[in-house]
Amino acid sequence: MAREILALRTEQARAHGYACYADYALADTMAGTRGAVNGLLEQVWTRAVSRVEQEREALQALVLSRGEALTLEAWDWRYYAEKVRALRYDLDEAQVKPYFPLDRMVEAVFDCARQLFGLEFLARPDLKAYHPDVKVYEVRQLDGTHVGVFLHDNFARPSKRSGAWMSNYRQQSRNVAGGGAISPIVVNNNNFAKGAPGEPTLLSFDDARTLFHEFGHGLHGLLSSVTYERLSGTNVLRDFVELPSQLFEHWLTEPAVLKKHARHHVTGEPIPDALVAKLHAARKFNQGYETVRYTASALVDMAVHSVAEPAGVDIVAAEAAELRRIGLPHGVGLNHRLPHFQHLFSGSSYAAGYYVYLWAEVLDADGFDAFAEAGDPFDPAVALRLQQFIYSAGDSLEPRAAYRAFRGREATVDPMLRKKGLVPDAA
Ligand SMILES: [Zn+2]
Repeated sequence: MAREILALRTEQARAHGYACYADYALADTMAGTRGAVNGLLEQVWTRAVSRVEQEREALQALVLSRGEALTLEAWDWRYYAEKVRALRYDLDEAQVKPYFPLDRMVEAVFDCARQLFGLEFLARPDLKAYHPDVKVYEVRQLDGTHVGVFLHDNFARPSKRSGAWMSNYRQQSRNVAGGGAISPIVVNNNNFAKGAPGEPTLLSFDDARTLFHEFGHGLHGLLSSVTYERLSGTNVLRDFVELPSQLFEHWLTEPAVLKKHARHHVTGEPIPDALVAKLHAARKFNQGYETVRYTASALVDMAVHSVAEPAGVDIVAAEAAELRRIGLPHGVGLNHRLPHFQHLFSGSSYAAGYYVYLWAEVLDADGFDAFAEAGDPFDPAVALRLQQFIYSAGDSLEPRAAYRAFRGREATVDPMLRKKGLVPDAA
């Protein structure tokens, strides 16, 4: 089946005048070309491979210290990695959660939006939503100008689908007869477990990150300022849409934000530095392994969709050839083997598109670095460019040009590599 799909895709691309399916699929992305995607993947690949060798040594040392005579294989990795994680980076959820009460974290996202974009969120209990748990806010600029309406639907309930997402009840636009404008109505859905009656809802660090992530999408909808609904808010290219959301996650880990908002729900004490350091260290653990597996799959995706001849693609041989070419390190394995690579074959939206997660991570890390360079996580000049070219532009600007206008240059891969611990931190 995969072989047939691949053949048909190649035929489709050629009918449109492209040399291969990857060229066809990438024409309507921010990356634009195979060269841009492969260039990114290969840069990351080299770093991840050297990191994974260090990780392997640590695991192999653990194996030896347990007196086991074993050479690490792909099926051993996660087992021993979990042992190392538990030894070095164990984070007790019960220790972390008291510092992340939902109410304070909601205040934190609103506070970041106020400091960055001058937005205020006014509770409007008089506006009735579809469920009593849903909170409704009117969003205004600091001068009182109406921006939109924001619904926060944070709790899990039996009738709700799982996961977290942002959607619109109404999208921003301006091409209304008579010159009027339409303001956005945006909802953020999460599935947090509601605290027992009389108890606060406490979030894990991952939950708090999800809250910030979805709120980033929410701001992308709320701050939209374009003429046409079709280009409004989150109606952007696939490899651009996660930038506003992943970027916003960075403010959660900003020390100033944590000190101000991550406070113990009983004592009011800010989260201890040692705990923050542990949270940061845990995020870099095993990233060589995860990045090698992901990047190998992304490279295989690009390779099979770069085939120019539709007839007789042997996907098993094509996968093997690409893995030989890049030199998949022994004992690591892949996230997906081609015959069950659902991202690529259950639909076409991720075909020659598995790279998008990494692309978005490059952008968000590089984008946030603009604030680090300015020496202020809320630097007004950077925030203004961020609003103008990223959060409010929708799809009205060519995304690479929009990013350049915000950042003053193309994105570089280094901040993402540092964030994942694939290169040492600058002093
Ligand atoms: Zn997202």
